[in-house]
Amino acid sequence: MIKICSLSSGSCGNSLYIEAGDTKILVDAGLSPKYINSCLKTLSSDIKSLTAILITHEHSDHIYGISALTKLVQTPIYANALTIDAAQDTFYPANLRVFPIQRFFNIGSFDILAFSTSHDSKSSVGFCFYHGRQKICVATDLGIITTEVIEALANFDLLLLEANYSDKLLLDGNYPAFVKKRIQGKYGHLSNSDAASLLTRTVSGHRQQVILGHLSADHNNPLLAKNTVSEQLKRSGIDSLDILVAPRKQLSEIVTFT
Ligand SMILES: [Zn+2]
Ligand SMILES: [Zn+2]
Repeated sequence: MIKICSLSSGSCGNSLYIEAGDTKILVDAGLSPKYINSCLKTLSSDIKSLTAILITHEHSDHIYGISALTKLVQTPIYANALTIDAAQDTFYPANLRVFPIQRFFNIGSFDILAFSTSHDSKSSVGFCFYHGRQKICVATDLGIITTEVIEALANFDLLLLEANYSDKLLLDGNYPAFVKKRIQGKYGHLSNSDAASLLTRTVSGHRQQVILGHLSADHNNPLLAKNTVSEQLKRSGIDSLDILVAPRKQLSEIVTFT
């Protein structure tokens, strides 16, 4: 059985748990070990039994907990070479493993492919996890939709996808103009509407599930994100997607595949 659950999603801290048999992986650890451990216990796991922690990029909402975690457990931390370079103080060399981009690597019962995303960090990535017939993907912190991202996500069964902001709420909000520009820019984040466009280009017709995540606290809310995406998909004639939303600082619904 595969079990997937977001522990928290957004600028308050990101971490996704994915398990198949004895293989237990965290994608990002942007929260305290205490918070992560209490979430894992709810999922009948704990930080000591983790097989690996994979890092998407060096922004603190993705690596905040790494230093403290590596003092508590010897779990291998996987990051790409440029991310390690960008956050040297955070990573302990003894625990570090480097993963390639656009070439398969293996951790326990998952084959994994990392793909590059356009974002204002050294070398941010998303991941696709393959186990049996299932393909589970993580794509947050995307400035724009690239061909590489579309190709990587093709035929997903479950996708954690960024839906960071509502265009209207961001434009009407009181962030300085340069911050709004950064968020909407090539190296920022995807809006609800961008997320829907990406989905229209990656749905395959079979029953698929998406968890919308990395929602802004100021310029989005779960209902708005879900409604905007589902309405846009409906207008494109797509009704084969189940849409969930990952909350900030709370566990999402648990998704399983048997
Ligand atoms: Zn980021
Ligand atoms: Zn982020």
